[in-house]
Amino acid sequence: MTNREIHPNDLVNFNRLDMAYNKIRVFQAKHNETEFGCIDSGKCCKVGLKIHLTECAYIAFRMRQEYYLRMENEGQESADAWMNSRIEALTDRMYDKSWDENEQSTDLQCAFWDNGCTIYGYRPLVCRAYGTITEVDDFCPRKRNEYGTIEHFAGKSVEDVIQEFQLILKRYAEDNGSNVDYDVIVYMPLGVLSFLLEDFQMQELHQQTEEKVWLGDEGWFNYQSRFTRLHGLKDEFIETEAKLRGLVVNSEGNLQREECINE
Ligand code: SF4
Repeated sequence: MTNREIHPNDLVNFNRLDMAYNKIRVFQAKHNETEFGCIDSGKCCKVGLKIHLTECAYIAFRMRQEYYLRMENEGQESADAWMNSRIEALTDRMYDKSWDENEQSTDLQCAFWDNGCTIYGYRPLVCRAYGTITEVDDFCPRKRNEYGTIEHFAGKSVEDVIQEFQLILKRYAEDNGSNVDYDVIVYMPLGVLSFLLEDFQMQELHQQTEEKVWLGDEGWFNYQSRFTRLHGLKDEFIETEAKLRGLVVNSEGNLQREECINE
């Protein structure tokens, strides 16, 4: 048995997630027609993301699907080699000493980077949002306007899809009992591996890796990224949801973190 399981209700939420991604795909396609579009430098993929477990589960689900499609098209040996290489890359990042859990920065490329994103069709929303509905960092080499910034989408249609996305995380959390096992923001390699590896393999990994890669933030409302802050649900709603779960907002206006170990 794998460490975490995908349940029948999750498939409905995965479908909702993909529909929300579709709306961002439209923004992205239109944005790429402008002079501020992505130029595929891969510099923003030098990162160790922390995302909500919903998206980790969806990535693992789609990886399994891809595995069987490869088996059908290319044979078992090729499918096994593909899956093993992906698991190896994810496992390798669990040993990343350069990863900063607060900044999500690292000296290494993302575990899914291999001359391009290997999960492009089912990559998380934070990757889709970058430069399409948010600003970019100085290291991004795309073109800037006369003010040294880029132009990106904003407004009600963007807010609608980001808030829809947040409510999908909430629904996934509720469908899985609103407990820290499934409603948690985690280091992406850990979250995805927990749906792919057996319990004993995760325990072995836990013994061999640093504590920082196992720490998570409880609660979908704690998924605070540049795009959720810009376009997401109002603070009052987020605060109420946090309070319902026994969390409070601290003096800096950030939700109090609850740390947990995802074994
Ligand atoms: S998931 Fe893909 S797009 Fe996102 S950081 Fe990793 S390689 Fe880049």
